[in-house]
Amino acid sequence: MDISEFRKHGKEVIDVIADYYEGLNQVPPMSTAKPGYLYKLIPHEAPREPESFEEIKSDIETRIMPGITHWQSGNFFGWYSSNSSFPAILGEMYSSMFSVVRFNWICSPAATELETVVVDWLGKLIGLNKRFLSINKDGTEGVGGGVIHGSASEALVVSMIAARRQMIAHLTSQGASDEEAESMQHRFVAYVSDQTHSAGQKGGQIIGCKTHVISTDANFRLTKDALETAIADDRNAGLVPFFVCGTFGTTNTAAIDDLSGIADVAEVENIWFHVDAAYAGSALACPEFHPLAIGSERADSFNINPHKWMLTNFDCSVLWVADSTHLVDALRIDREYLPRVKGEKSFVKDYRDWELALGSKFRALKLWFVMRTYGVLGIQRHIRMHISQAKWLEEQLLNDGRFEIMAPTVFGLVVFRIKPQAIVGSSVALEESEKSNDRVNSANVELVKRIQEDNRVFLVGTKVKGNDVVRAAIGTTYGTQENVERLVLVIKQLTTKVIGCAFINPE
Ligand SMILES: *Cc1c(COP(=O)(O)O)cnc(C)c1O
Repeated sequence: MDISEFRKHGKEVIDVIADYYEGLNQVPPMSTAKPGYLYKLIPHEAPREPESFEEIKSDIETRIMPGITHWQSGNFFGWYSSNSSFPAILGEMYSSMFSVVRFNWICSPAATELETVVVDWLGKLIGLNKRFLSINKDGTEGVGGGVIHGSASEALVVSMIAARRQMIAHLTSQGASDEEAESMQHRFVAYVSDQTHSAGQKGGQIIGCKTHVISTDANFRLTKDALETAIADDRNAGLVPFFVCGTFGTTNTAAIDDLSGIADVAEVENIWFHVDAAYAGSALACPEFHPLAIGSERADSFNINPHKWMLTNFDCSVLWVADSTHLVDALRIDREYLPRVKGEKSFVKDYRDWELALGSKFRALKLWFVMRTYGVLGIQRHIRMHISQAKWLEEQLLNDGRFEIMAPTVFGLVVFRIKPQAIVGSSVALEESEKSNDRVNSANVELVKRIQEDNRVFLVGTKVKGNDVVRAAIGTTYGTQENVERLVLVIKQLTTKVIGCAFINPE
């Protein structure tokens, strides 16, 4: 493909993208492809002779599209949204244009410096404590700062690596020799809750430490008491606590851990405190949510995913650390061919010391495009609109009478189920608890299955405290109130089918 062909096809592709977004409401959101569908549709060897762009483009329509679940459709309420936006798409195009690899400042000063600045913008937007910012008010470089990773999972692993280094440094400062401190690593233990994202446990597997999974309370929160007890037990057993993950908006139910309590314990116990705010961190763009995050200002690391709920195409996950010393110590490698810039320190970060990979693409561009195109007010509008739609959805479900809300609706996630009274009827039947419980669970599993088969909207189910429930996550960029109305309609219609009657039996 030469430049003139690129010019032509590039413009066609922009039209394809615009048409796709224009038509998203008219297509079923979920792919109904069966496993292995694509293998049957495409050749099993790369083509020997070059193929034309037209051929490839037409295969996108006929072969790829059937296997796409439309995450950007307004009718998509699954998992958590993974926002795209037009400014972010354009930013990604520029990033592809440059195709620079940013590992050192010298690789492309703009890639490093824009990342430093835009991540500080974002930190200020969400009200992060100034400890986490790269540049101090007086223009000097701070010890903290942020970096854009590919995913929250990566951010969690990197935080654990920094935490391990901090603990080793602590042990040596207490008199252990380097060898002794290193050899104690097999006794290091990290704390997560039964609601922490699976990345917490995966992180433990990757770095090879123990993870202690603590049970959450009735509101799905990791509490101070539970953490204290777990740490005391482990210290008695000779283990070395070094890391705790608190979550601001869990994946299952958007619960918020007792971040203040965890911060207290982390301070006393001298362990690293990571806050996973992958999903709900975006809500902190609205100051009315700041009180919910109190405690996170005392964390060692803090992570949000603009690629979930802040209009920035996957992948863009921002990790801040209050003090980068241990992080950089843990990940720093020097080679002659990886020169560092000496002298003037400000604005010169070698981000290869802040992440698992050596290099990464110029991700800051898309975030910059988003923040400039929407502005603070536009981002706040985006968040508040989804939250008010979620409250509206909750109200519709409660007014219907057949549903109950299974976790507080704080952000854009509504967790609900058809309530037992609507399924098993009388309270007498309810007393045969185990059997009726099964019936309630299977009715709710059935509801999710029917909604997916119906495919006017898409959502998924989950389990909370042993109950099967339905999860509706509101948060797509171009979804509207009409999409949420459609969701309500589908839920109500299919619930009627599932329970076989449209009214509630009186108690
Ligand atoms: C989605 C989610 C993650 C994982 O995000 P990735 O960027 O896909 O790794 C981690 N934590 C929470 C709370 C999440 O909701």
